Amino acid sequence: MTERFSPKVIPLVDLRAGAYSIPAAALMPASRMAASGLVSDALGRNLRDLRISVTDRCNFRCNYCMPKEIFDKDYAYLPHAALLSFEEIVRIARQFVAHGVQKIRLTGGEPLLRKNIERLIEQLAALRTLDGSPLDLTLTTNGALLARKAKALKAAGLQRVTVSLDGLNDAVFRSMNDVDFPVADVLDGIHAAQAAGLGPIKINMVVKRGTNDQEILPMVRHFKGSGMVLRFIEYMDVGATNGWRMHDVMPSAEVIQHIGSELSLVPLDPSIAGETAERWGFANASGEHDQAAGEIGVISSVTQAFCSSCNRARLSTEGQLYLCLFANQGYDLRSLVRSGATDEDMASAIGHIWSGRSDRYSELRGAMGADAGTGSRRVEMSYIGG
Ligand code: SAM
Ligand code: SF4
Ligand code: SF4
Repeated sequence: MTERFSPKVIPLVDLRAGAYSIPAAALMPASRMAASGLVSDALGRNLRDLRISVTDRCNFRCNYCMPKEIFDKDYAYLPHAALLSFEEIVRIARQFVAHGVQKIRLTGGEPLLRKNIERLIEQLAALRTLDGSPLDLTLTTNGALLARKAKALKAAGLQRVTVSLDGLNDAVFRSMNDVDFPVADVLDGIHAAQAAGLGPIKINMVVKRGTNDQEILPMVRHFKGSGMVLRFIEYMDVGATNGWRMHDVMPSAEVIQHIGSELSLVPLDPSIAGETAERWGFANASGEHDQAAGEIGVISSVTQAFCSSCNRARLSTEGQLYLCLFANQGYDLRSLVRSGATDEDMASAIGHIWSGRSDRYSELRGAMGADAGTGSRRVEMSYIGG
């Protein structure tokens, strides 16, 4: 009979990491679980996607993510010793791949601020899935350092990038990033990424009503026909510092309607099962998808939960494993790695943790009503990555 996995929970002092951490000792129940390339959680969702946050620091202060009032000069970022080393990240990632992970996304904070990130990319690019295929290896960035780094990232083995860009109007963009960073430099970064072959490039725009919704159409016109896919993300109630209100969310349905007032769109099928973005193609005169014009996407994290197909695990900068973006509890994989655990121990722990997963916050939020989850103690986006 399988031993029931019910680890002891201890409170964490540091609120950025959510309220609780499950200690390493509790992650090794007596019954062993070997990696088989396929592990399902309690709701039948297979582990496929791993996001790794490589730093909790950022050179932007987007007010929906790291508001200046909280993330000011006195904010205590993690000391270097607390961060997972590249060796530790790769060791942990290898166990995830053994359990069926096919895609790894590096994020942060701003991942390009992590010193020698190319060395980490080289090591992750060498990993192979059980059938011998390379991983889908990608990175999400605010683009500020991309012009400088694109070539080296490609040479290290990165396949593609997603760039966050919340508008084209320089004044709007400078006020969204709140560090007066010019939009032209991010556009240069995007061009450098294109030239380096880091494609297909995705551009992510978080839409905040009354702040940057006037940028939707200029962004669509700019990226239409560019080969890049622009995606609109609903402003989410992630973390506990951004003062989220449902009123500030512009539902994807409204975004599509707004774009449709100028350009004809046709719905497209998902490109892979469990895709989080809903795809829309630009239509030609006969109402069919115009491939050359391309497509856009909407990610409706608030108004249309996609928990039923969520196959994603998240590893924080200091090695806490989170099973949901809205989790208030992490699993301390760093202590496990540093306790001398073998690869088999780690694979077993990860397998047990994923098998017990039943998170579906967005579905529950939907059932509870709009502002229901605000104000609770939750992990910050800049700590866990998007
Ligand atoms: N710094 C990098 C960047 O901005 O691309 C990577 C980390 S950032 C946390 C990852 C993604 O999360 C970005 O696309 C960002 O726009 C998005 N994000 C952050 N806070 C968000 C929120 N409250 N709602 C929706 N998306 C958010
Ligand atoms: Fe930094 Fe990205 Fe958060 Fe903006 S969204 S503050 S760029 S981590
Ligand atoms: Fe996945 Fe949690 Fe988001 Fe649902 S709320 S889609 S379980 S991360």
